[in-house]
Amino acid sequence: MIAALTRHRDISLLESSLLKTVADLFAPNWAAIFHIGDDDVPAFSTSLREGIVSQTDFPEPFSELFGTEGVTSFPIMSHAQKVLGYLLVYRRPQLSGEEETLMTELFRVYDNYLSVLRDSQVDRLTGLLNRSTFDDQLDRALGLIRASYQEHAGERSKRKVGEGAGSFFMGEIDIDHFKNVNDRFGHLHGDEVLMILARILQSTFRKTDLIYRFGGEEFVVIVYVDDRGDAEMTFERLRISIENHVFPQVGKVTVSIGITEVRDTSFPVELLGHADQALYYAKTHGRNRVAFYEALLANGEIEAYQRTPKT
Ligand code: GH3
Ligand code: MG
Ligand code: MG
Repeated sequence: MIAALTRHRDISLLESSLLKTVADLFAPNWAAIFHIGDDDVPAFSTSLREGIVSQTDFPEPFSELFGTEGVTSFPIMSHAQKVLGYLLVYRRPQLSGEEETLMTELFRVYDNYLSVLRDSQVDRLTGLLNRSTFDDQLDRALGLIRASYQEHAGERSKRKVGEGAGSFFMGEIDIDHFKNVNDRFGHLHGDEVLMILARILQSTFRKTDLIYRFGGEEFVVIVYVDDRGDAEMTFERLRISIENHVFPQVGKVTVSIGITEVRDTSFPVELLGHADQALYYAKTHGRNRVAFYEALLANGEIEAYQRTPKT
């Protein structure tokens, strides 16, 4: 489900328009873009058959596509020269030398534009998605989440993760006493802590989870897990990994985390309000801990979040 969110960004429009152009110029039997997903397995992204761009499943096993006569492949590379995915074009008769040159030029334009788009979505210091990407994605994400909950209403308790049984949770993470880190060790070491923390976040969560650098030393993660218990465990695992990590020069750093469930009625402001309230609770109850908005509310430890009425 979370992977589906990322299909609806401008990158997917770019993919569709690339495939349409490929269709106009070369009339291929099919063309498809794959992204390397979790565990380095290529995941299907966008495909085209007979002029129709679709995001439905691509039937062929990926590995067999490369060897097929008539298939031309173009690797999509990261700045660090890592393969991020492939554009595959299949046409019989095979592309001529001239067509292949043209196709290569076209791919280069796409590839350059893709890296510009990617750069604008990403925070420079940490490489995580940035705040403006969060703002762009959240409305659409909530729409998809609502649709998924409606689709699976009534059967959620019976099904497994990935089949619509789970729930989305949002966690807001704020470094404890980070001002002290800057004051004692300087801004550069502070920045280094942020970079390392981003790596810890990336290794704790799945590639399909969405991780944002929300502000200076605040991060937001949206995860898809079975239930509240799993959400709490996941964020607790993060809290412990950070607590146990020894940061160069700086030594120990801890974080406080506020979690809330993303329900089908959640509005962005409400959602952030819930996470903020839980985070505030964690901060005022000793820091270095995870607080769960819904649990605090059920135990009467906090008041229900109120949207500030417009005056
Ligand atoms: P608390 O436990 O209450 O969160 O205490 P805190 O000191 O972390 O307080 P707060 O969250 O209000 O302060 C955030 C500090 O983070 C302020 C600023 O000095 C630092 N900071 C914000 N962005 C950056 C950054 O990009 N690099 C560095 N080095 N420091 C930053
Ligand atoms: Mg802060
Ligand atoms: Mg802080």
